[in-house]
Amino acid sequence: MNERGMVIIGAGTAGAWAAVELRNRGWEGGITLIGNESRIPYDRPPLSKEQLQVEGDVAPVPLIPQESWEPCGIAYISGDGAVSIDRDKRSVKLESGRDVPYEKLLLATGANPRKLATLGNGTDGVQYLRRFDDALRLREHLRPGKRVAVIGGGFIGLEAAASASAKGCRVKLIEAGPRILTRGVPEAVAQAVHARHAEAGVEFRTGAGLERIDRIGEEFAIALSDGTTVSCDLVIAGIGAVPETALAAECGLDIDNGIKVNERLETSDPHIYAAGDCCSFPHARYGGRRIRLEAWRNAQDQGLHAAANMLGESAPYAAIPWFWSDQYDLTLQVAGLLDGAAATVERDLGETGQLYFHLAEDGSLLAASGIGTESIGKEIRVAEMMIEKKAKPSPESLRDPKTKLKSLLRA
Ligand code: FAD
Ligand code: NAP
Repeated sequence: MNERGMVIIGAGTAGAWAAVELRNRGWEGGITLIGNESRIPYDRPPLSKEQLQVEGDVAPVPLIPQESWEPCGIAYISGDGAVSIDRDKRSVKLESGRDVPYEKLLLATGANPRKLATLGNGTDGVQYLRRFDDALRLREHLRPGKRVAVIGGGFIGLEAAASASAKGCRVKLIEAGPRILTRGVPEAVAQAVHARHAEAGVEFRTGAGLERIDRIGEEFAIALSDGTTVSCDLVIAGIGAVPETALAAECGLDIDNGIKVNERLETSDPHIYAAGDCCSFPHARYGGRRIRLEAWRNAQDQGLHAAANMLGESAPYAAIPWFWSDQYDLTLQVAGLLDGAAATVERDLGETGQLYFHLAEDGSLLAASGIGTESIGKEIRVAEMMIEKKAKPSPESLRDPKTKLKSLLRA
């Protein structure tokens, strides 16, 4: 039998960073990273942005630079997914039939695109975007003049719409809700994103539910609940992501909107941890509320954190949630959780953009959001530290761009 080592299922952001961190923290035994994609561990954010837009050869962006990856001596198994976990034997079975015994196991299985349940013979032809191969396929369709319908006004939908529009496609975006970006993005930021898309020529159909998608020859006909039909050459759907929990559920681990972990990222089995898009965890800064995040930095941070705890640390995971999205020349960023905010204060940064501070009933900063050029990132970073400290800056000081946020942090 193989020697027991540290084993990670899922070679995405959380898994790959955890593997490197285990070595960096001095683990001298084996580290096995199991991936079901036949690629090096790669980054997903470029898939909906530059990689949809570039012409010519395109390669996955490695998650870990080669010079950091190679010295770690990680046994990377690619294209051979895990099919079951035997918790009594502490062993993982792979598709190939191979058994991989573990000392500690990390589940970093990510999420998969939610699929449309809509009726109609065109549903099978709808394109989704999660993997590098999806981006390669989609890219081939994005040609000038093509009529593209995007279903879902979330991040995938909007980033794909921006990329398609940049490539000269004629884009219509269909969103069932009353506005785009209803989850975790304030209305003012969503409006600015909407306006930038409209300026680029994207047409919006908000508040329009999907009835069916039919294929008529080379064309798709999308029937909407308001009685209208959208005709197009390509349909892209971005209607959310579903956490990948099958392995965890089958071996009896607790599931609650993802693999359920405690504040130390431990599952209901103390030998098994979970990190990234696949898990839900309690967040101390937000009253111990159980949340699941679908964002790059959370996956990286949780991968690093889980690795430390697998090696005997027992620190709670308490990083402030943060994500970004790039569309056209705009970047949007949100730190913290907006829900529960009682008031919002705007800071106008002129050509740089706008910041919004979301305050709780007691005046403490719960979240900060911004839209504009990349330089809003520095301000959001300071706001993040204020959120962590439960700072109670005055609304006047937040509103005034002449007051440095750093000075409020020190106060
Ligand atoms: P994943 O990256 O999903 O990795 C999980 C891996 O596990 C996958 O390779 C999966 O195939 C594999 N796996 C699953 N089951 C098994 C099994 N049984 N055996 C072996 N392997 C398995 N976030 C941002 O903050 N900003 C952005 O701009 C942004 N852009 C994005 C653009 C796109 C197109 C997408 C899809 C996501 C984007 N995200 C962005 C979200 C971010 O990429 C994810 O939150 C992050 O990838 C999650 O990392 P993860 O490791 O938890 O999961
Ligand atoms: P998402 O951000 O959750 O957005 C899904 C959108 O589709 C929402 O607006 C949702 O509206 C709508 N929707 C849901 N069901 C629908 C239906 N049946 N018909 C029409 N619309 C429907 O998810 P996503 O955009 O698909 O992204 C998938 C994953 O990739 C997520 O994990 C996301 O975080 C990640 N991603 C992140 C970024 C980023 O952070 N920059 C970029 C790309 C991808 P309701 O909210 O009203 O249900």
